Amino acid sequence: MSYFRDNIDSMTAYVPGAQPAAGETVIKLNTNENPYPPSPKALAALGEFDGERLCRYPHPMAGQFRAAVASVLGIGEGWILPGNGSDELIVIIARACAGSNRPIVYPYPTFEFYLTQAQIENAGPIQVSFDDEYNLPVDGLVAAGGAVTYVANPGSPSGTAVSNDALSELAERLTGVLVIDEAYVDFAESDSLELAKNCDNVILLRTLSKGYSLAGLRLGYAVANPQLLDGLAKVKDIYNVDCIADCVGAAAFEDQAYKIATAAKVNASRAKLTSDLEALGWSVLPSQANFVLVRPPGGNAQQVHQSLKDRRILVRYFNSPKLDDRLRITIGTDEQNAAIIGALTELKED
Ligand SMILES: *Cc1c(COP(=O)(O)O)cnc(C)c1O
Repeated sequence: MSYFRDNIDSMTAYVPGAQPAAGETVIKLNTNENPYPPSPKALAALGEFDGERLCRYPHPMAGQFRAAVASVLGIGEGWILPGNGSDELIVIIARACAGSNRPIVYPYPTFEFYLTQAQIENAGPIQVSFDDEYNLPVDGLVAAGGAVTYVANPGSPSGTAVSNDALSELAERLTGVLVIDEAYVDFAESDSLELAKNCDNVILLRTLSKGYSLAGLRLGYAVANPQLLDGLAKVKDIYNVDCIADCVGAAAFEDQAYKIATAAKVNASRAKLTSDLEALGWSVLPSQANFVLVRPPGGNAQQVHQSLKDRRILVRYFNSPKLDDRLRITIGTDEQNAAIIGALTELKED
């Protein structure tokens, strides 16, 4: 006898990357956080926030933040649904659209939280393998017949990007919704906003966690046509975004210049880290995100992961098919990246 539904008993919990205690000195390159602080304008908005506002409920649609996104992207507010991180939007979509005989489908490997939501809703999942170059398996995804099909673009943990042509073909051929998870779009060469505007089954997900250095604030948003978002809003928590996130997130989003400059620094460091790793004999997938998926020369990723941990450098290791000979390394500051290259050079000499 259990207190839980059968599928909850049989699923495994999502395991987040390790978070060291405050004050612990580690080089933390395991969860794709931004190494730079949030925009000074966001920090000023936080400093000036009137604490007495906390006695009232927040705007149910994070009105201040939603207005900022609408103005920057040049779309109507009805096309934007804010969430408590894009993780919450992934939960909302599963709740509204997926279930038994309404599977969640995605190319594998990808963000594991889609799997978690599919298991909670008894909605598959159906996983369709990427090839070794991480081309989008359009035919396989269409054949799987998802009520919801997820494509993270750029992908995690690969960092690779697929073309808008491939996504557009997929959107057209699917009978269910296509969710394009653009968590890393701020580091990428292109985006799919036009696709979301033009296809009535496309939902774009974005977050302030990566490009805006606000992972701790918990704020993201969906872009889709208003009819689709009205359906999703039915299943959301009443006040899903708190008033501090609404205010600080708006200030951060309005400061596009800061976000663009920060992403440019990260991308320059990504190029440097890539060439340094390649010089050590590592293979590196071409990344459009703030991390790289890399294979050590001997493929002994688990051992390298542990040796780095012993040196207080955290990177991500996935003990799963197609990934267990690789590490995912978040792009840090140039100083942090030099530290990991130093450690790997030492390990090579041992
Ligand atoms: C980080 C990440 C998210 C989660 O973003 P939050 O807004 O912090 O919840 C969603 N999707 C992918 C692919 C991510 O890597």
